[in-house]
Amino acid sequence: MRPFADENASPAVMDDKPRSSSKRATPAVVRWTTTALPRDAELKRELHIPLGIVVNPLDRRAVCRRIARLKSPERIARCSSCYGYVSAHCRVNANGFRCCACGTYTLWRDAAKGSRYSKGLAAIQALPEISGETYEFDVAVETISDGKSEVETEEASETLEANDWRRRAVRNDASTAGTSRRNARAIVAIVDLNGAGEEYCELVKLALGSAMEALDGEDARFGVFTFRGDTLEAIDFSDVGAKDVQDVDGVRLKYFDSHANPRKHGFIRRVQDVVSSIGDVLTSLLTPTPGWKDVISDAIDDRIVGDMSTTDGRSEGRIFGPVLDEVLSFIEQAVDDGFISSARVLAFLRGGPSRGVGSCDVGRLSKSVADVLLHENARPTMEDFEFASREADSLMIPAHDHYESVGERCLIRGVEVDVVVTSDDFNDLTTLAPLAERSGGTFLLYPNAQNIPIVGDIYRLLRNEKAINATLRIRSTADLEIANAYGSLHADKAYPGLYHIASCATKDTFAFDFDYATSAGLEEDLNGGYPKIQLAFEYTCITRDVDRATGEVVVHRRRRRRIHSCRANIARSARDVYKHVDANAVMCVLARQALMTADEEGSTEARRALVDWFIAFSSAARKTSNTFEFVTDVVPRLVYGLLRSKILHPMGSHPDARVAARSRLLRFDADDSATYAYPELRAFEECNEGEENAIDGTNGSSSLFSKGRMPLRRQEVEAANGVLLIRGDDEVVVAYIGPEAVASCPPAHGSALDREIRRIREQSFEGTFLPRVTHVRLGGADDPSPVDARLVEELESEFAPGAYDGFVDFCARAGEEIDRVARR
Ligand SMILES: [Zn+2]
Repeated sequence: MRPFADENASPAVMDDKPRSSSKRATPAVVRWTTTALPRDAELKRELHIPLGIVVNPLDRRAVCRRIARLKSPERIARCSSCYGYVSAHCRVNANGFRCCACGTYTLWRDAAKGSRYSKGLAAIQALPEISGETYEFDVAVETISDGKSEVETEEASETLEANDWRRRAVRNDASTAGTSRRNARAIVAIVDLNGAGEEYCELVKLALGSAMEALDGEDARFGVFTFRGDTLEAIDFSDVGAKDVQDVDGVRLKYFDSHANPRKHGFIRRVQDVVSSIGDVLTSLLTPTPGWKDVISDAIDDRIVGDMSTTDGRSEGRIFGPVLDEVLSFIEQAVDDGFISSARVLAFLRGGPSRGVGSCDVGRLSKSVADVLLHENARPTMEDFEFASREADSLMIPAHDHYESVGERCLIRGVEVDVVVTSDDFNDLTTLAPLAERSGGTFLLYPNAQNIPIVGDIYRLLRNEKAINATLRIRSTADLEIANAYGSLHADKAYPGLYHIASCATKDTFAFDFDYATSAGLEEDLNGGYPKIQLAFEYTCITRDVDRATGEVVVHRRRRRRIHSCRANIARSARDVYKHVDANAVMCVLARQALMTADEEGSTEARRALVDWFIAFSSAARKTSNTFEFVTDVVPRLVYGLLRSKILHPMGSHPDARVAARSRLLRFDADDSATYAYPELRAFEECNEGEENAIDGTNGSSSLFSKGRMPLRRQEVEAANGVLLIRGDDEVVVAYIGPEAVASCPPAHGSALDREIRRIREQSFEGTFLPRVTHVRLGGADDPSPVDARLVEELESEFAPGAYDGFVDFCARAGEEIDRVARR
């Protein structure tokens, strides 16, 4: 049996932490760009420090108190005015509490049902929701599997809020028998077999196997659709158990687009018409039949790997749009029939859709444009750069909005679509990407190669998903207003401060920036001295626990609510604001703002806005004589790194790679956003046995240049002797310099360096993507380019308007501008 100890959806529950956490540790769940907020709107404007928060709702580091055995969620006290939850930041007495968000006083008897708050002040103060910043409780629980065969439903005291439209499906068929059945979800794979070679088929088969493994114990249903040429096929699981698989025709639909009217194009039949029951195609993974998963695997093997016979459909085009339509309507049918309540579609594509509805404009990148965009070596001219900017911007505009509207439709039906593309060609992924982005799915892009980590990535994608169908409600002190929200979330149209999130992994992060409601800014009285934020994150998750008595793994589905409250200070001076800046959080907000500007006005405008911000920010710091390290060293490098990144720089990266990078950056937390813009460079020093190696743990540090990190210059690299670790968002480069170090390349299994590399990768393990590791012997026989490519400060040819030329020039030119503005 596999260990499930670390698989519980939430971090360890601890009870021994003091009520207010110590000063410098990185705060969990919410990171403010500065914890000392400018007192008024004028100062806020003057300093040009984005005022916002970076929210990681399921942050593992959070000290989360779990309230067990709660009869009903209505027993937790809520403010009678703003409906906020009671928290550690509320003032409580024996009779009631003063709300930390709006300041209203509510009597306990009006705040909650039951007698939870009637046992005196001391008992009230000891309650988890009042003694800790983060707490959570179950709104509803059901047992999916208890290790034995019987599955039964526990109490399900669900209270659906009126605006909870994502769970409409659940409510609609509440009358259908069998609770777990109606709540089950489906994992449906769509596999593109056009031009698929044996190796690719083998990889997809393994990826689907790892998907099933990730769903272990869950009452999910599983379906596999494939398409090649003009044929859509589905595995009919009612057949595969039968002996004579040869005779079975399976589910096979033919696509036609011969009709003069494109509206009449489609499949001759529907999947529903071909099968006798939806369960034939969406098979349950929780079936009591022993060895059923092997049967499924064999069927997949048979369908995907075994069937290389059909003609290669490359010339006919890729009918992904019509196939997706058919699969989605089948899923909707399954929802309506009460088989499932939500679904996740994994679409494995070998290229952009090119036939039928939803075809991408795969031909719109001409060879001559591609040559300029991918110009990596020769020094491009200013004209090249401007041309590339225009072309890159126009390639970022989708050819049509088909996938945007399909994505919206998916979101409403609770269907999440992940798009996994394996290709080296241009596929106009800009047009396809909204499918994943809108529906809450993930977009993954791989080169068409043998050793791509697709199997592990799919496993982590499903396994790390900790929350689905989530809502995030943000309440704040009255004089703070959310200006913008950034990330894979959707603002509710009716309720301000309420966001819908299709799915959320442990590391997924959302960013918000704030305006002051009035120019007067933050009123001391109103805030009791501290502006506050409260998050209410409600989500559905699967938990796996080992039953102590029987040793069996018990699987539950829970609807949970996690409440987190935190506060900031009101700054006494400009210096106070600077002193409390979290540079990586600032970076995260800036990067998301830049993405939003790029979406709305193009990346040329996004670059210009970022440079303008940098100059305004630096001159403000100079004017107020605040020359902290993050102002002089960290922010310039991060800004420069972002300007040079795939997201904003028009040259050197493939347009489709930009789409994939963008999709990842939208989920990155504060530290990963900073690492994305500017990789870390650290020296590795081995310590004596038992000690920590001399590399600072990445957990606690909020400053990019905390101990052990260095600027990415050749000077540093060449002066070093030993091992350097360069960590970017998707790669760890281990550089060995000097004969002694070179001798230890690659590191022996189990050595300190080996352990350190593994530790770095494991940190990323919570994310979907495992960074690849490259070993380079500098001065040796190895190609040094993996190191060179990461030396941001050495890179040349930054042809932004104003012609910046490498980091040094960038700083020099920006410096002149900063001087000019500061003197004004
Ligand atoms: Zn309130």
